Amino acid sequence: MIITNKISIGFKLSILTVLSLLGMIVSLLVFINLMDTNLYKEKKSQTRVLVEAGMAIIAHFHDLQIRGEMSADDARQTAMDALTSSTFGNNGYYWINNRDGLMLKNPSTPELEGKNVLDLADLKGKSLFQQFIDKAKKGGGWVEYHWPKIGNADPLRKISYVAYFKPWDWILGTGLYLDDMEKEIQGATLRGVLMISFIFIVLILTSISLASRFMRQLKDLAIHDPLTGLYTRRYLYELTPMYLSKQERNEGQLLAAIFFDVDHFKKVNDRHGHAVGDNVLIGLGKTIKHVVRKGDLGIRYGGEEFVVIMLCANKEDAVIVAERIRTEANELQFAGKDDTFSVTLSAGLAYREEKEDFDALLKRADEKLYLAKESGRDRLVWK
Ligand code: GH3
Ligand code: MG
Ligand code: MG
Repeated sequence: MIITNKISIGFKLSILTVLSLLGMIVSLLVFINLMDTNLYKEKKSQTRVLVEAGMAIIAHFHDLQIRGEMSADDARQTAMDALTSSTFGNNGYYWINNRDGLMLKNPSTPELEGKNVLDLADLKGKSLFQQFIDKAKKGGGWVEYHWPKIGNADPLRKISYVAYFKPWDWILGTGLYLDDMEKEIQGATLRGVLMISFIFIVLILTSISLASRFMRQLKDLAIHDPLTGLYTRRYLYELTPMYLSKQERNEGQLLAAIFFDVDHFKKVNDRHGHAVGDNVLIGLGKTIKHVVRKGDLGIRYGGEEFVVIMLCANKEDAVIVAERIRTEANELQFAGKDDTFSVTLSAGLAYREEKEDFDALLKRADEKLYLAKESGRDRLVWK
């Protein structure tokens, strides 16, 4: 019974722990996903804002051209110079190509300037300039692809926004690399995993300590009578096989069972009340615990009945213990309603006969107790 409880409580706690772990993992995944989406959105809007700012520069010089304050060539060249020198952030730059795919300006890969890049593909085979042109024609949009950073050979994931300035047939684009965002997400994931592992370990240790504390309390309840602190009848039956085999292993050793019953206990309750009756039982419990030797068992068998089980070398040992319990019990003074009073105990003692089973031994001790009651109470019958 106790073992079954242990398994089911342990099992339930493990389920709870695994469920909380799953909950934490799901929350982390949701959080990472949200973070990824938000950072990505932010990158997209940043590229758009940057291209719109670049378009304002182009429009400004185009205005000067229209108003005749600058020649067409000067206006284009000045706008281009302004855009080329406008680097931003870490590796941020503008490039310009036209709708036929001719690269007009690209500070990151100047070797492409003057060349047609329509068929240029990134490392995944994506014809990015065809896509830039498509998006630009439709009024602007984003393209994701892989491109090396300035001064770096390895292509990295990048998102770019492009817009079209029709009067000059210029497609203006700028992009942001996503590696910093990926690093940020990796860092957050790592921190999340570490935190979850820490919480999980704390959870497991707490569950184990809770389960074992709970089991100890449960076992203690099953073993000890809460009123007297003596062992319970249930625990007696758990321990009897051990006592029987202990006796059988040691030749010449005797196993004694002593039954005690408080005389006229009902009258104590009737006269002084149940609480006083309880005090009597508590006092008797203390006396039994104090008299029995280590290794012997003092049990509250029922209401006001007690049993002592003991291994002894000779027949006098158990008689001495039984009589000492009776004497010390009788010496106890209890505060009653208007006076102090004491109680007497009747007792029956039996020694185990060869191969006798435990119930038969107890029954014989109980019969002796009955004889003690019959013959006037306040005595021990053992012969
Ligand atoms: P006898 O000498 O024949 O044993 O008489 P008795 O009155 O002791 O026996 P009986 O079996 O008639 O009564 C036992 C009483 O013990 C009745 C019951 O109310 C009381 N009792 C049992 N358990 C408890 C308990 O936990 N607390 C208290 N206060 N009384 C209890
Ligand atoms: Mg009784
Ligand atoms: Mg009684």
